[in-house]
Amino acid sequence: MKIKEVKAIGLECPIEGWFLPTRTYVLVEITTDEGITGIGQCGTVGHPEIARIIDKRIAPLLVGEDPFDRPRIWAKLWDDPRVVLSWGHKGAEVYALSGIDIALWDIEGKACGQPIHKLLGASRSKIRAYSSHGDPEKVEEYKSRGFTAYKFGEWHGEPGNLTQIDRMVAKLRRAIGDEAALLFDGFQRYDLAKAVKVARVLEEYDAFFFEEPVLSYDFDSMAALAARTTVPLAAGEHQFTVREAADLILKGGIQYVQPEITNCGGITEAMKIAAVAESRGVKLCPHCGDSPVDVASMLQVVGAAPNAIFGEWQAALDYPMRWELLKEPIKVSSDGFIEIPTGPGLGIELDPKVVEKYRW
Ligand SMILES: [Mg+2]
Repeated sequence: MKIKEVKAIGLECPIEGWFLPTRTYVLVEITTDEGITGIGQCGTVGHPEIARIIDKRIAPLLVGEDPFDRPRIWAKLWDDPRVVLSWGHKGAEVYALSGIDIALWDIEGKACGQPIHKLLGASRSKIRAYSSHGDPEKVEEYKSRGFTAYKFGEWHGEPGNLTQIDRMVAKLRRAIGDEAALLFDGFQRYDLAKAVKVARVLEEYDAFFFEEPVLSYDFDSMAALAARTTVPLAAGEHQFTVREAADLILKGGIQYVQPEITNCGGITEAMKIAAVAESRGVKLCPHCGDSPVDVASMLQVVGAAPNAIFGEWQAALDYPMRWELLKEPIKVSSDGFIEIPTGPGLGIELDPKVVEKYRW
């Protein structure tokens, strides 16, 4: 089998109540000479530059390659200055490589008639979901939808107002009950001193983890915080590839690692990150955006990784493209779990009419 065509697909849909006026995805479609097509997503948020990297820089290098040769293809792109020179193995270029890796896995699954998590070796058929960044006023609604775990954070305003945090977390704990998992995202907004104080509040309410308490690359502060609190720390959504994630796992004192599959280098890198984490007793709790292709990629990883514990589910983002893009949308079931798709590859099918409708 040979790769015949590689092209980026930019999608855009208006959204309300988000920090940008539109929600954008950059997908990548890889077509083979045997008629099998793989799909991947390049980054949680789609930027035109990523689409240009795919179309102008990566596509010409992939035509004629065997899609089963993922490691060789990765090495070829990783070592080529035409692909990785501008951002230096980070950012838009690794987002593009992530989508390529996911699409190649999708092709491999379709060619073998198996979902990706079965090719990797399956660990589970469903994963516990957590409701992420929902509206604190809508906890009852999330509970009624089946969630048993909830993540909130201080997304707006001056960071680190302890009275406000205490009030918010107390209210959330009361609303979700003692049994539910309460996760807190710091969005990298605190320095070490402030993070220690926030962690004290979170200890009081038995938080499940404290995510990105400090800057994502400040492993010294992360490790210092880990030594001073009983709340487990989580991070990893801003680390590119296993090289950066391994540093975080080995130096940052975290107990949960959170690669974003569409940013970190794709399914292959996410599985390597899971393996390094496993070697240190760290659990895999991937970051996941709201795009259905992102969710499907995350599900195939947690379906395989033995140390996966949660699937992130963006609870508040509501816009038509999210729900219309797949012929069969992925859902959280009434017990708060998400089934791992069992169809070949990613186990999803895009609706071509919807792709055309939202193409930018
Ligand atoms: Mg986060």
